[in-house]
Amino acid sequence: MSTGKTAAGTATPIPAGDLVPSADVREEYEALVEQVRKHRFAYYQEDAPVISDAEFDGLYRRLETIEAMHPELVANDSPTQEVGGEVSAAFTAVEHLQRMYSLEDVFSLEELEAWIAKAGANIAKLGNGTPAWLTELKIDGLAVNLLYRDGVLIRAATRGDGTTGEDITHNVLTIKEIPQRLSGDGFPAEVEIRGEVFIPSKAFTEFNEALIAAGKAPLANPRNAAAGSLRQKDPAETAKRPLKMYVHGIGAREGLQTASQSDTYRQLAEWGLPTSPYAEVLPGLADVLAFITRYGDQRHSLTHEIDGIVVKVDDFATQRALGYTSRVPRWAVAYKYPPEEVNTKLLDIAVNVGRTGRVTPYGVMEPVKVAGSTVEMATLHNQEVVKAKGVKIGDIVVLRKAGDVIPEIVGPVLALRDQQDPPVRDFVMPTQCPACGTPLAPAKEGDVDIRCPNSRSCPAQLRERVFHLAGRGAFDIEALGWEAAIALTQPAEPDVAPLTTEANLFRLTPADLADVRIRREKRSKGVASGEFELVPYFFSKGTAKTPSKPTATTEKLFRELDKAKTQPLWRVLVALSIRHVGPRASRALATAFGSMDAIRKASEEELANVDGVGPVIAAALTEWFAEDWHRGIVDTWAADGVRMEDERDESMPRTLEGLTIVVTGSLEGFSRDEAKEAILIRGGKAAGSVSKNTSYVVAGENAGTKLDKAEQLGVPVLDEDGFRALLADGPAGGAAESAEEDLPEGEGE
Ligand code: NAD
Repeated sequence: MSTGKTAAGTATPIPAGDLVPSADVREEYEALVEQVRKHRFAYYQEDAPVISDAEFDGLYRRLETIEAMHPELVANDSPTQEVGGEVSAAFTAVEHLQRMYSLEDVFSLEELEAWIAKAGANIAKLGNGTPAWLTELKIDGLAVNLLYRDGVLIRAATRGDGTTGEDITHNVLTIKEIPQRLSGDGFPAEVEIRGEVFIPSKAFTEFNEALIAAGKAPLANPRNAAAGSLRQKDPAETAKRPLKMYVHGIGAREGLQTASQSDTYRQLAEWGLPTSPYAEVLPGLADVLAFITRYGDQRHSLTHEIDGIVVKVDDFATQRALGYTSRVPRWAVAYKYPPEEVNTKLLDIAVNVGRTGRVTPYGVMEPVKVAGSTVEMATLHNQEVVKAKGVKIGDIVVLRKAGDVIPEIVGPVLALRDQQDPPVRDFVMPTQCPACGTPLAPAKEGDVDIRCPNSRSCPAQLRERVFHLAGRGAFDIEALGWEAAIALTQPAEPDVAPLTTEANLFRLTPADLADVRIRREKRSKGVASGEFELVPYFFSKGTAKTPSKPTATTEKLFRELDKAKTQPLWRVLVALSIRHVGPRASRALATAFGSMDAIRKASEEELANVDGVGPVIAAALTEWFAEDWHRGIVDTWAADGVRMEDERDESMPRTLEGLTIVVTGSLEGFSRDEAKEAILIRGGKAAGSVSKNTSYVVAGENAGTKLDKAEQLGVPVLDEDGFRALLADGPAGGAAESAEEDLPEGEGE
């Protein structure tokens, strides 16, 4: 199946000048008409689309392109001449007083610019001056038509085919925000109010969480969920769904005095109808483009999903003058953001063993472009998530990538499940580690995650740790990337990997790497072939004339390994892959203790006391250092020349030896880190909480509970000047300053 095709990226171009449609074009055209009809039915009637909107838009655009080249093909009932949707027999059909239309879509800013320029020129020709553009969010929901007579809601209907909709009055009455009676006065005798019913994003997530908790399948996305909710047979069911509505248009009107769309929104808001807070009247293209960029950036922090921006001529007289095609108004256009949801095939569910042994299932998919990047893998977190999402291997799945967010498999397209060849199958979580064969188990009873307990020698865990220790936040070894980590720990050849423990990292020699080969997919012009070969990784291939030798990257690797030995202590700590110990905690530990030895010897309480560490990290550290082979890594690295303490400024007098100092509140002359640094280089300890072991508390502006605690425990408190004196002269200076605190004002000089 073709996947992820954007509207702009359609198939073979139709040759210009080919005005008599060939049999091929005719055939393609008829097939497209049928496909578009079928997908519209699944989308509008069943609220269960089987292809993504982007794919649908691609098909629809192709249809439009063929029709533009061959107008003689266009029948009156072509999908391009109709508003999508029909009336289901499950509901009573009702005629709208005035037709409901769809919107013309554009998929790029260039197309939008061209549309605005053309509409502007037409408006000028009509003598209606320069238009103002009412610019609003395109809400991804379901259109409804509300008929009010003398301020009373008479009827609510879906858009249907634009002329006839479905009567959903009882369901709409369950939406709290839609008034049965308008408030205020001066209501028109009759008015059709059009708007979008939707489920706010947060409510959607919560609703789905509740469904999963109740063992039910979650809803695919807010749009289909809103449509499905509103088209329930039983209004009590609709009432359970968190629906909202925003007004975005007017149909038939009698006695409505407003002259523009924006004025009408203001009036409707006064009468108690829900209007969107985001609509703006803008003078021209530049502002419209800025609006699009702004909401493109904020798209995921809005209260509801949007799929684009709608730009409308604000003035009613100009709207009337421009009129409508059979499907869309000529005075409005919808700019669609790049698609964030596409469909693709789930080829397999594999598992990955992480740095701490956690086994995570992930989906392997047919590669597909979504939100600007090609995606072929997405995590499925754990077996419970696989179950909750209801996906099976071989399913067509909906894949979502919202902006920069990690891609997510939303769920299966159930309607296509039976057609898959080979048939879909269930995922079974392995019981043994795929990398080392050790039986998998949860770390403790009741844990959802299962782990490989063989942390010392499981090659997958080792590979992850080696990759991690080379990272930018650790030793920063650029030449040791993901593939090199595989080559060092899990090469295809030789049988014994050059690295079976990270302890030996700094003992590697070029000779250890000479025979390393990895399995790599063959590529032709950058395209993967599906065939694999064994290639030397660290050394060049070598020929009869030129012997094999280390590649430039391998030479760089050895240079970087040498350099890594002089990295500051906090980076060494990060490199050890101790649970919870990332750059922040490592920096705090390095500042507080200054050396690996001091950290290793510190009690759990002393560790927990460090600002930025706390009890969880302290426990993880103590547990880690309790393992012989862990201490072995540190010892071997130290023996191989890795610097295990931060350099001290020997010229600095060690005035604070043996003292534990807590800094609280803000100081004028020191940042928090500078204050800690100042304590440390003079031999003191910088702690994060006050106890009876605290020697001094330094209190700056806005000092809080730590100051109270110091006073309770009788710990001496210093101000900034006192702190400076302490740094300079040790306890003698601190005591003098501390004592001065008690002197009456004016007597401390
Ligand atoms: P549309 O969604 O592109 O635009 C028209 C609709 O936008 C209006 O009817 C209205 O309900 C809505 N809208 C939201 N905010 C609005 C605002 N501020 N002002 C005015 N209108 C606003 O057109 P359509 O005809 O409803 O449907 C086409 C859409 O449905 C496309 O996104 C298409 O991809 C999707 N679709 C998908 C499938 C599928 O199989 N995946 C099938 C059919 C249609």
